[in-house]
Amino acid sequence: SRELLERSEKLAAVGQLAAGIAHEIRNPLTALKGFIDLMHRKSKGNNKRYLEIMKGEVGRMELILGELLMLAKPQQVHYSAEDVDLLLQEIVSFMSPQAIIHNVVIETTFPDDLPQITCEPNQLKQVFINIVRNGIEAMERGGTLCVVAKRHDDHVQIDFIDEGVGIPPEKLKHIGEPFFTTKEQGTGLGMMVSQRIVAEHGGRLSVQSAIGQGTTVTILLPIAPQQALPQTKG
Ligand code: ADP
Ligand code: MG
Repeated sequence: SRELLERSEKLAAVGQLAAGIAHEIRNPLTALKGFIDLMHRKSKGNNKRYLEIMKGEVGRMELILGELLMLAKPQQVHYSAEDVDLLLQEIVSFMSPQAIIHNVVIETTFPDDLPQITCEPNQLKQVFINIVRNGIEAMERGGTLCVVAKRHDDHVQIDFIDEGVGIPPEKLKHIGEPFFTTKEQGTGLGMMVSQRIVAEHGGRLSVQSAIGQGTTVTILLPIAPQQALPQTKG
């Protein structure tokens, strides 16, 4: 377990470095993008086509940088007590256009007595987006993505259950490694960033999968301290 700790410390250091580099690259890239846009608007024929490709590729670089930047600790961390069902509902609405395009229905099951959790809401929303997006992308012919939250003694469990392609065991162990992707347009950073954020919240993220049947991503998050005791009223 000391080995595990050393490994996670190394990963944290690498993450900080990657985020730092991403930050430095983002500004010149923004300038580049602006000028490409400008030239694209003023050009015709082949040049316009080439500039369109450049725009697409710069967009991809921005996507990768955006995910690497999530590894940095936010400049100002605002931990607050939040209703996890409201955060999840927000993400479900936000992702619904993409779900519709892919013929995916997102179903949510939240109990009434869900306690609040202490979190950095923007970071946690990023985690939910990454996982919901993976679920949608895994269901090439559409299907249902169930988002189920429930309360345990001192933590909340959130399951994201898809009916997608599933993950073979030999690939399952690589999930969360930087740049591990099976997608042509993938970054292979979403799960690593998500695991990192959940760990920083004192929680755990795990993945279970059956080929051809689907995948369940489970997140456990500690309940906000003042609510951790079981309520006796009622
Ligand atoms: P990306 O989505 O850019 O590939 P991620 O880190 O989000 O990167 O995911 C890494 C890989 O894990 C994916 O390429 C895919 O192979 C696998 N994966 C993650 N979530 C799922 C899922 N719900 N169903 C099937 N495969 C998944
Ligand atoms: Mg992803």
